[in-house]
Amino acid sequence: MARSGNRDEFSDATKTRLAMRAGFRCSMPDCGQQTIGPSDESPDSVINVGVAAHICAAAPNGPRYALDMTREQRRDIRNGIWLCATHGQEVDRDVIRFTSDKLAAYKIEHERAMQVELNAGRGSFRGMDLVALGPDVVCIGELFGTSGREWTIRISHFVEGDLRRVIEFGERFDQLDPYDRYLLVNSLGDGRLLAGPPAWRRDGQFIEFSCLVEEKFPRIDAHNLGRTFATNSSNDIFITGGGIAMVEGLDALPQRIKESLSMLLGESPFHPKVGSRFKEYFDAFEDSPWLSRWTRLEVIRLACIPYRDPVDDRRYTQLQCVLHVEEIEQLDAVRAGNWVKFRFKLDVKGVGQWECLIPIFVPNDNPP
Ligand SMILES: [Zn+2]
Repeated sequence: MARSGNRDEFSDATKTRLAMRAGFRCSMPDCGQQTIGPSDESPDSVINVGVAAHICAAAPNGPRYALDMTREQRRDIRNGIWLCATHGQEVDRDVIRFTSDKLAAYKIEHERAMQVELNAGRGSFRGMDLVALGPDVVCIGELFGTSGREWTIRISHFVEGDLRRVIEFGERFDQLDPYDRYLLVNSLGDGRLLAGPPAWRRDGQFIEFSCLVEEKFPRIDAHNLGRTFATNSSNDIFITGGGIAMVEGLDALPQRIKESLSMLLGESPFHPKVGSRFKEYFDAFEDSPWLSRWTRLEVIRLACIPYRDPVDDRRYTQLQCVLHVEEIEQLDAVRAGNWVKFRFKLDVKGVGQWECLIPIFVPNDNPP
């Protein structure tokens, strides 16, 4: 594929997310070839073996080019289909057989099959889930073992960052913002600050990290959560009984979760580390089981990693009273207006297992 400045290429993030949605397998019916595997060059072999093909071409001389599409639409994840290298070439050679409608239908069918597999934890997803090492590295892997405070993670591949970023993370460990020195493990529902830089080694097609983690940061009893403004279903504060409605104690927890996930990371000038990447993940994985997994990873960070409040110089985890994140389940496949609802199953200090339906605000950039 010739590279040129006029091509509306997918970004690397879009390519990886397209691969994730396809379960890292070719979307062509009756192919389903694994597009990740052992690679001597780089553990990030996703890009090497699979192809993010355009359903409608990236440039005017390409196959299935649609004149009425904007540049953004051509680069959008919705215009991509994940294929093995062989089928990536075949669909571009035979545009009579592989129309854009046909490719779009293959994609939907394949993603649906992968959803079933992912939800059931079958096939290549057995025991596999997301693991984050600081803010720039996210992998698919499993917890291989713990020994005292040493956690060992086995990585099958990277979905953000690569091995070079891990090495950099280790080398710059002492200069990093203390809040960014963390390990989050979805399959455990837990995350910890790291006591030192991670060690890594290659084991066949896997990469293994060993991390010495700090002790669990102390949480407060949920009944002692401080007073905060209550918000209604349009995310506004409201008046009740002549005053502004407030919540405290356990009633403040849904409010706190809603606020933390609804706020974009970096949005607050006083608290640049507060908020989440939920909107970004929603845009890529709205109708995929990956959305619940990315959301869980964010909630683990908010629940388990202590943050130093620069305003009142105090350390606390953003959700303050949540010990573990047991389960996050998306309730509606499509958003209602600007909201999407999840069921949160959490282990809460002073309460034990706690369940709640909480809507998260996600601004709709493409209203129908
Ligand atoms: Zn194929």
